[in-house]
Order: sequence, then structure tokens, then C-alpha cells
Amino acid sequence: MEIIIIVLITILGLILGSFYGCMGYRIPNKISVTASRSFCNECGKTLKWYMNIPVFSYIFLKGRCHYCKKPIDFVYPFVEITCALLFLCNYLMFGFTLNFFIATILTSILMVTIVSDFLYYYISDRVLVLGGISLIVVLSIFLDMSLVFSRIINGAILFMLLLGIKILGNYMFKKESLGDGDIKLMGVIGIALRSSELGFYNIILGTMSSFVALFIASIIGLIFSVIIHKKNKEGIIPFGPFLLIGALIVLYFEPIIMPFIKNIINI
Ligand SMILES: [Zn+2]
Repeated sequence: MEIIIIVLITILGLILGSFYGCMGYRIPNKISVTASRSFCNECGKTLKWYMNIPVFSYIFLKGRCHYCKKPIDFVYPFVEITCALLFLCNYLMFGFTLNFFIATILTSILMVTIVSDFLYYYISDRVLVLGGISLIVVLSIFLDMSLVFSRIINGAILFMLLLGIKILGNYMFKKESLGDGDIKLMGVIGIALRSSELGFYNIILGTMSSFVALFIASIIGLIFSVIIHKKNKEGIIPFGPFLLIGALIVLYFEPIIMPFIKNIINI
């Protein structure tokens, strides 16, 4: 039984990964996500079904479009494989619990954002709103309304804090310090990250764990920017994917990170 679930989750990850990669390309380029069938980004020819199978098509087309022979960006098979692996990892870590669904929603936002933020420096509001609503729906199924509400407050607090940091940063350094997309994304991460403790402390713990995610994201982002000098015109690195990776790490290592945070704020 277990093996069937694992195979199904992997296939679902590949198919959704393919869809997320497509969204990551279409949304910044103002192409409808649902309207038309898949086409080549270079020559625009509609793809036949067998040219559109996740990963396998990339391999048997040898990474090139069947029609114009232009190379297909490696980011697409990368997103498909990574999505399948992360879905699988989420299941193996959490089973079908609340954290599985939270991690899977974060993974989904990450997959779209990897393509849109790395290639086009764009984090889609629609994806964030959809992700935020999905999180609230999943939380409402598993948790008491008061806990769901405290997580929404946590998201709002993080959004405001980051907005404050941005305004301060812009004032101090006289240049753009944080992207608007990153600030909204932190709001969504604030809804996603925990905990089930009661009341006031729940919000503090949520805020602290989101800041741990931000800290981890900054370190990974810094290493990445040293290795690959990828910045846009305003000198901003695509930070969204790192924030989501940071949030997933906090979720995965919650049993280690949470006692550490509790120790700091002395609960
Ligand atoms: Zn083509």
C-alpha cells in the first residue's frame, strides 16, 4: 500500500511540477495559464502530448524543441524533478498530517517562484494569494479557529515588520533593500509557520520561527550570490525562492528549532 502511495505522490509531483514551471513562465509573460495548450517558448508551435511528458520528453527530445531545435531551458525538468522529490520528502517526513499539506503548499509556491523570480525577477501576487488561501483552508480543517486566526495575525505582523525594515533600509542605504514580492511572501510564510501553543506565545513563536526562516534564507542567498552573481537592474538578488527554502527547512527541523527558540524567549 505504502509503495503505491509513494509512486502516486511522485507522479503527482512530476505533473504538478510541470504545471508550476509553465505557470512560472506564463504569469510574468502575461500569458493565460489555463487558456492555451503547451507551446515552445521560442517558436510558439503547439506541443504534441508526447512532447509534454514531465522529464521524459526533455530526455528523448535531447533538451531541444522538436520543431525549431532551440534548447529548452533546464529549469523546467529541474522544477519537475525537484517538485516530485520534495512532495515525496514531505510525505516521508510528515505522513498525511497538517505539516504535509503546509509543506506541499510551500513547495508549490516555491516551484512557481523558482522559475518566475530567477528568470524574470517576478513574484506573482496571484500565486501568493492562492497559496495564502490554500494554507488558511488547510489550517481550518486541522486546527481550532482561534489557532488559525493567530496564524493569520502572525502573517500580518510579519508583513508589517518586513515593510518597516524595507522603509528603514531604503532610508538608510538610499537604495531598494527588499522586493515587494519578498515582503508579501513573508506574510504567507507567517501564516504557514507554527505553532500549536496557546494565545499570545503562539504569535511570538510563529514570528520567531519565521525570522529563523528569514535568517536561513539570508545565509543561503548570500552563499548563492557569491557563487553566482545574479542581480537585476536595481541590484536585488531573487530572494523569494530562498525565503521558501528557509521556511521548508524550519518546518522539517521544527523539533530541533522550536526548543531552541523557546529557550531564547524563556518559555
Ligand atoms: Zn520551438
